[in-house]
Parts: sequence; C-alpha cells; structure tokens
Amino acid sequence: MPSISDPIISIKGLGKKTSDRLNQLGIHTLEHLVFHLPNRYQDKTSITPLSNASINAEILVELNIDRIEVVPSRNRQLLCYLSDNQNQRLLLRFFHFTQYQKQAFVRGETIQSFGEVKMGHQGLEMHHPEYRIVSQNQTPLLEPTLTPIYPLCSGVSQNKMKQWVNQSLEVLKMSMLDDYFETITHQSMPSLKDSLFLLHHPDKNENLIQIEAFKHISQQRLIIEELATHQLSLLKTKKARKGKKTNAFILNNTLSDKLLDSLDFNLTNAQSRCIKEINYDLASSEPMLRLLQGDVGSGKTIVAVFALIQAVENNFQAAIMAPTEILARQHLQNFTQYLESLNIQIAYLSGSQNTQERREQMSLIESGEAKVVIGTHALFQDSVSFKDLSLVIIDEQHKFGVHQRLSLTKKAINTPHQLVMTATPIPRSLTMSTYADLDTSVIDELPPGRQLVETVALSNSRRDELIEKIKKISDDGRQIYWVCTLIEESEALRAESAEKTFDYLSSNLQELKVVMIHGKLTKSDKEVIMKDFEQGKINLLVATTVIEVGVNVPNASLMIVENSERLGLAQLHQLRGRVGRGSEKSICILMYQSPLSESAKQRLEILRQSNDGFMIAQKDLELRGPGEILGTQQTGIASMKIANIVRDAYLLKEAGYYSAKMLEASEQNQSALINRWIDEEKTHYFDA
Ligand code: ADP
Ligand code: MG
Repeated sequence: MPSISDPIISIKGLGKKTSDRLNQLGIHTLEHLVFHLPNRYQDKTSITPLSNASINAEILVELNIDRIEVVPSRNRQLLCYLSDNQNQRLLLRFFHFTQYQKQAFVRGETIQSFGEVKMGHQGLEMHHPEYRIVSQNQTPLLEPTLTPIYPLCSGVSQNKMKQWVNQSLEVLKMSMLDDYFETITHQSMPSLKDSLFLLHHPDKNENLIQIEAFKHISQQRLIIEELATHQLSLLKTKKARKGKKTNAFILNNTLSDKLLDSLDFNLTNAQSRCIKEINYDLASSEPMLRLLQGDVGSGKTIVAVFALIQAVENNFQAAIMAPTEILARQHLQNFTQYLESLNIQIAYLSGSQNTQERREQMSLIESGEAKVVIGTHALFQDSVSFKDLSLVIIDEQHKFGVHQRLSLTKKAINTPHQLVMTATPIPRSLTMSTYADLDTSVIDELPPGRQLVETVALSNSRRDELIEKIKKISDDGRQIYWVCTLIEESEALRAESAEKTFDYLSSNLQELKVVMIHGKLTKSDKEVIMKDFEQGKINLLVATTVIEVGVNVPNASLMIVENSERLGLAQLHQLRGRVGRGSEKSICILMYQSPLSESAKQRLEILRQSNDGFMIAQKDLELRGPGEILGTQQTGIASMKIANIVRDAYLLKEAGYYSAKMLEASEQNQSALINRWIDEEKTHYFDA
C-alpha cells in the first residue's frame, strides 16, 4: 500500500531526473505534492453559449466545424471556422500545426474548445485553444470541478504535474494526515484534508473570486497554520533561551545619573521608556533578547550607552558590535566622550589594527580591565576572550546574519543579555513573523528641533545645475555628500562609477576640497577620510553606499543621490538619514535616469512626501517583499508554501494566538507541525 510519506520516485513513470527537479521545488514526498497547491484555476465546468462570451475571458464552448482553411502566407496558419445553432461564429487560429491535426478537423463534426476569447477582424477568435473533437469520441473537456493550474519547474508539464498530484490525492484519501492544528482550533475551520481536496479541485459552486484572492476559508486555514508554525518555531527558540541562566543585574543608578547630568540634552520620552524596558530585562535572570527600533537619528546610541552602564555598574563587561569600521570608530569616539568622565575603560577591536595594538586591546579584554568593548566582526574571532561578558549590543542588526549574533553570545559563560538595534524600522507584520522571538522597544519620537529633510527628485540631465547649489551650501560652511550607486554587486565597478563622478565634480569645483570614499580603499584610508569629513576639512564627499548606515556628521546638510531609482525605499531613507542631523535645514536630492518605471516613480514620490521610516518600510515591504528588508539571511518567511506576509498580514494576529496554543502541545506534535511547514534547510537557524 502506498503511503503519503513515500518518496516521489515511487510514482510510476517518475524517474530520477524529474525527482531531482521536483526536489528543487521542495517536493520530496507524496505529502509534499498534496501541499503543492494550484496558483490559479480554469473553469471548464460548463459550456458557455457564444452569445454570452466576453472578450479576454477563458471559456469552454461546444460548436460545429463549418470549414477549415490554411493561409499559405510566409507565416502559415490553420484557420478553423466554427458556429452554433444560432449561427454565432468563432474562429480558431493555429500558428503552427501538424498535418494530423489538420486532417482531424472535418466539416460537420462537433468540437469542444477551451481558451481565451479575442476580438479579431472577422469577429471572435481563440488562438491555440485546448480542444477535443467530441463527435469522434475524444474525451470531452467538460470537468466536474474547476481545473487546477500548478506552478511548474522546467522539464515538468502541467499534465504530468496534475497527474502526480491527483495520484497523491488518491493516496491521501486512504491515509491519516496528522492534524494537530485541528485539535487546537476545535474544528472551527475545515480540516486539513478537506482544505487540500477543495483547493486542488474546487467545486464549481465555490467562490472562485474568493479563492483567487486567497480569502477562502480553506486557504485562510492553511495560511494561519503556516504562519502560526513559523511563529511557533521562533517561540520555541525564545523559550529555550529564557530557560538559560544569565547574570541578573542589580539596578543601581549611580553611574546613569551621572551620565544623565553630563548630557547636553534631555532624553526624549521614547528614549526614557526604552531605557526602562531594557533595564527591566537586565534585572531578570532570564537572558534579554530585545530589538531596539528607531528611525535614523532617533537617538539609539545613547540608549545603548545606558544599557552598557548597567553592566559596568554590576562589574560585568559589555560589548557593542557595529557592521562597519567607520561606524565602530564613530561609536568609539562617542562612547569615549560619554564614558571618560565616569572612568570607564574602553577597549577597541577592528580588522585594521596591527598586531601590537591588537594584543594590547585583547589583554585589556581578557583581564576584564576594559569594561566596555567596541568593535566590528573582529570581536567574533576565536582568539578574543572576555573575562565576564554579560551584555552584547549589536548595532544595525539587519546587516548581520543571526549566526554572527550568536557566535558572539557564545563568548560568555552565562548566556549574555542581548540588545539588537536596527535603524531600518521593521513593519509590524515582519516583527510578528520573523522576529517573534525578540521583545521589541521602539523609539517612536525624534529629538526636538529636528528639521525634516526636504526631498526633491531631479533628472540626471540637470546635473550641471547642482554645481551652483553645492558652491552655495559650501560657502555657508556646510558640507555635502554625493552618493554614487551602481546596481552591480561589485565593489570594483562601484568604485569606477564613483571615480567618474569624482572627476566631474572635482574639475567643476576646483575651489572646494572634494574627496572620494568607497569600499575598495583600505580601512585606514577610509578612517582618515571620515575623520577629515567630520572635522570639516572636506567640503564634498563623493561616496558609494558605504556611508549608508549610522554615519553622523551634523554639519552635512546636502545629500545628492545619483541613480536613486535603482535603490529600494528603505535604503534611500537610510542614506537620506545622513543629513538633517544638525539644526540646519537639510536637503536631499534624488537624481534619476529617465524614463522612470512606474514603481520607481512611486518610490521617489513616497520619499518626497514622507520622512517617516516606519511608513516607508511598510511601503517597501508592499512594493518589494520581505527579502529586501530582512536581507538574505532570514528569508524563511519569504519562501512560505501558501502564506504571503504582505497579502496575509491581516491573519498574523490570529496566527499569533494559535502559535501560543501550539507551544502547549506535545514536543512531538510541535515538531510534526514544524516539519510539515518549514523546509529542513530553513530550520537550522532556529536552533543554532
Ligand atoms: P541613531 O538612532 O540614528 O543611531 P544617534 O544615536 O546617532 O541616532 O543620534 C543622532 C544624534 O542625535 C546624535 O548626535 C545624538 O547626540 C543626538 N541625540 C540623541 N538623543 C538626543 C536627544 N534626546 N536630544 C537631542 N539630541 C539627541
Ligand atoms: Mg546609529
């Protein structure tokens, strides 16, 4: 007896090669085939009279063959003229055909034909329809249910796929399909089996419009189960983490009060609230894993400093990791300013240090003398060992993979508290699905007195006009970023395009100090340039997107982005965040190459109209999908079987409810759900 868990190779006529191809689609067993759902349907459940046909609709007709004709032009065509009893006419047109086909069309025979109706010169037409000559005893096209159309891979035809799915459905009829979700929902929704049968072969009375919108109860049921299962696997990670031991901090505000006094600004309410939320976690013996979200310029750094100080006050070490050397060094500068008066020793580790410097810093870290450690990826290296690391802060998380985050936590004896900061506001639907294992704090308020960055779009053809603008800004003592973008994923090509722009700008702005920075420069060269820019020694910085995150030079008030139509919304918003950091009015000029695509137009318009990072991220999600916002590391949710995070966001809350219930199920039932919905290759990061 075949079983639903049999490998697909057990299907008769399905060979090794095809099996490999299907594996690529994630189809390994018969069960996978029954979860391979149609992406659309054809309606061959009734015969439509020609008088009811409408243009562009797919219909099934049954008609008489009146006449056939071969048009003998260079592009030979076979024409087959049909009519019904009311003398309504339809023309079938074939641009390629066999002799055999031609001979089968015999005047007076009855034909069933399915296809899209078009309007031709002589009336209604169908091109290359699917047809059967029913009067010659060919199997009619009329079907009792809607006809599924499946997503395919190369080398697999629609008919084959249909046949294999149907065979699997036959096996499913005889099989038990574990359905733990059903127990949890108290049968309030259709069963898993019923849903699958219905979606493969919807009855003609089913609401096809609903099905096409993925709003049918059978689809919603599967979507909720899939979303809930993804959340479940994240919740499991969270639960496992909470079960671990960590150092509970004793909250003592001596140092924080001092820091607060030394600041030349007041914290915003949102910052204070986030600090409170973090402190609450730090005082617990369950390890914190908190995501701190805040738009560019909302002041995440100082919130991080308050967390670091709690570690120091408890005589533990804390580390903060930045995604780039530029950012790490900037943190070093800021932190030194904040922490110096409090007598807190800082160590700094980056890839560009020489052996001597490195050795010194490492010994500060190892001895525990340095309470605060700042660095780049260099912090992960095996040779780095901490004395008592108990808080890890990651800046700009979306630039890191989750594995990197975890390898740093392994450097602690007890699981450390973790704070993950991100400047890309993450739409709520994504935090609920992808970051469900993290608690979240949001700085939803900018420091007072910030001016919104005025954003304008300008065609590349008007580039020369910018020279005057740059001169003027520079005369006012302000600085300028000119960002070059290239779609190629090659740093060398990027550098080349920046070079051209650099030549153009430096020859037209000879009285200004124009300097170029890109990823091909050595780390120390980059550092020198950034330092010079910060100190105002450079008027105009020509840069690739290396300056995308974090860079803070409040005196820069003009940013020009070349070919901005090539970048995503979230990225442009990040870039734009490099200006508008001072009290001066700032401008961001988005240059574009005409003609703009419709979606590029939309993107630029959204940026012109809004400075709200959350709104922009939500739009980015809608326009480009989750992969763009989350990066490649965490796209498990981008390849779900039926759910789509954008389309189905409205079901996330319900899914959240069920995922909590799933967490109460037996371990065995939980893994069964996870195995069903999440590809093995994608589960690895959950339990790392
Ligand atoms: P981001 O959230 O983008 O990392 P930063 O932490 O770099 O932002 O802060 C941006 C700027 O705002 C810094 O110059 C910082 O000193 C300043 N800042 C932070 N908090 C406040 C505040 N409450 N009031 C005024 N300025 C602040
Ligand atoms: Mg920052």
